[in-house]
Amino acid sequence: MAKEKDVKTPKKRKAPSKKAVVKQKAAIAEESKEKELVEEILAEVAAPEEISSTPRRSVAFIGSECYPFVKTGGLGDVMHALPKALVKQNCDVKVILPRYKCIPWEYQEKMIYRGAFEMDLCADGRSFYVGIMEYVWDGVVYDFIDNEEFFSNGSPYTNLVDDIPKYCYFAKAALAALNYMDWIPDIIHCHDWQAALVPVYLRTQFEHTKLTTAKTILTIHNLRFQGIYNIPTIRYWSGLPDHLFCKDVLKTSHQDANMMKGGLAYANMITTVSPTYAGEIQSAYYGETLDAHLRYHSGKLRGIINGIDYDIWDPAADGRLYANYTLHNALEQKKENKRRLQEELGLTQDDGKFVIGLISRLTDQKGLDLVNAILSQVMDDHTQVVVLGTGDRVYEDSFRYYENAFRGSVCSNIMYDETRAHRIYAGADALLVPSRFEPCGLTQLIAMHYGTIPIVRETGGLKDTVEPYNMFTNAGNGFTFDRYDAGLLLDAINRAKTLYFEARSCWDEMVLRDMEKDLSWENSAKQYKDLYLGLT
Ligand code: ADP
Repeated sequence: MAKEKDVKTPKKRKAPSKKAVVKQKAAIAEESKEKELVEEILAEVAAPEEISSTPRRSVAFIGSECYPFVKTGGLGDVMHALPKALVKQNCDVKVILPRYKCIPWEYQEKMIYRGAFEMDLCADGRSFYVGIMEYVWDGVVYDFIDNEEFFSNGSPYTNLVDDIPKYCYFAKAALAALNYMDWIPDIIHCHDWQAALVPVYLRTQFEHTKLTTAKTILTIHNLRFQGIYNIPTIRYWSGLPDHLFCKDVLKTSHQDANMMKGGLAYANMITTVSPTYAGEIQSAYYGETLDAHLRYHSGKLRGIINGIDYDIWDPAADGRLYANYTLHNALEQKKENKRRLQEELGLTQDDGKFVIGLISRLTDQKGLDLVNAILSQVMDDHTQVVVLGTGDRVYEDSFRYYENAFRGSVCSNIMYDETRAHRIYAGADALLVPSRFEPCGLTQLIAMHYGTIPIVRETGGLKDTVEPYNMFTNAGNGFTFDRYDAGLLLDAINRAKTLYFEARSCWDEMVLRDMEKDLSWENSAKQYKDLYLGLT
C-alpha cells in the first residue's frame, strides 16, 4: 500500500487571489532580510490554488485514451481532467495509457524511457515486450505502455479482431508495469472495457504480488462497448484460467466472453458517469444485456457526474475563439463569434439568425435519426444549423444532403476538428443533444459554459445537468423532451425559438445563468476522493 503522506499538512489555501498582497509582503520581507519569511511567502505563491485537507491517496488511472495525446470522445476528456482535479484533492495520480503511434510527436519526443521487460500473456505462455515511457505534466505522471506490435495503428481502435488482443495485453501490461516500477497505489481506477480485465488479472494472476493490496474501481463511460468476442479467442489472448469463463464472470452467451462483464464482477466498486445512467443501466432498455448482472452488483454501483476542464474550456481565455468573453460582455461577444463563424463556414452573415449547433459522433446513440426526421421542418428564414462530426456513413451523407438542400443555412462539417468545435460552442445560440442514451454527455456542459443553450433529451447525464426551462418562474438551463420521438424534439426546438425571438431578455438571462453554473470537476473529484477513502 502506498504510504499515506503527512495528513496534517494543508489547510485550504487560496493563493492567486491574494497574489498582489503576497508579493507586496515578499518585497517588504526581502528588504528586511527575513529569509525565512520570504521562503514561506514564496511557497504560498507557488502552492496550488486549493489543496484538500483529506488524507492523501495514490491512484493509478488505466484507460485507452487521454486528451491531448489521443481522444475520440468524452473518455479522453475525463482521463485528462479528472486526474488533474484529483491532484487538488490531495491524490498522487499516475495515468497509464497505450503508447499509440498516432500520439503527436510533440508529446512523444518528451517521453522519457523508464524501463522494459518481457511479459507472459497468452494461454500458451507467449511473451511480449513491455516498454514504459514517462511524461510528467501538471502534477500528473503519465506512463505509456510501449509495444509496436499492438499500438502502431493509425488510430487507437481498429476492429475487434485486433482490439481484443490489444486490450488483453494492455490490461495485464499496466499491472505488470506498476509492479516493475514498484509503485503500489491505494486505488486502481480502470475505465471502460479496454481496462476492464485489470480487476480480473489483479485478483488472479497478480494475487501474490504486492499490488494485491490495491482496491479497484471500474468506471463505465459507455456501456454499449463491452469487448465481446468468442470464448476461445479471449481465453487464448488473456491467458485467464478456464473457471473464469462462467456466466457470473466472463461468459456472456453460449459462445461469447465479455471483458466488461468480468471487470464488473471483480471490481471492488463500479461507477458510471451520472446518477441517472447508473439507474438506467439496470433496466433492460439501457442495460445492453448486462442489466441483470448490474442489478446483481448494484450494491457497489454509484453514479458520479462528469465536469469540464476550465483550463481548456474557458470562453474568457480560449485562444481558439474569434472573440473572448466573460459574463459581462457575453451577449455582445457571442454575436461577434456568430458572425465570424458564419463567415468561416459560408453561411449567410446575420447575427439575428438563430444558430443551432450539433457536435457529435454521428452514430445511432446520438439521436440523429430524430434530427434527420425533422430537420426540414426546423429550417426557416431565421434559422441556421451547423453540424460537426464523423461517424456512420448514413448520417454523414444525410447531413451532406441537407447542406446542399439548404445552402447558406446548413453547414455540415464532416470532420474531427477541435478548433471548429470551440468556435461552434461560442458562436451558436443553441446546441442539440437528442441522444437515445447518454451516460453523461460533455457537449451540453461545454455549451452551457459558453452561454449556448442546450436542447436535450431527458436521459442519463443530460437529465442530471440540464434543468428544463420554466416559463412561469423564468428558471432552468435549457430545453428538454422525454420520450425518444422526433415530434417531441421538434417541439423542444420550437419552444427554444419562441423564447429566442419573442422574449429575448429571458433568453439572455438563461445564457448568463448557464455560464455561471458550476460545471467544474471540483465537486465530482471530491466524490471520487470520498469513494477512494471509503475503500481504503
Ligand atoms: P461521447 O463521449 O459519447 O462521444 P461526449 O459528449 O461525452 O460524447 O464527448 C464528446 C467530446 O468530443 C466533446 O469534447 C466534444 O466537443 C468532442 N467532439 C465530438 N465530435 C467532435 C468533432 N467532430 N470535432 C471536435 N470535437 C468533437
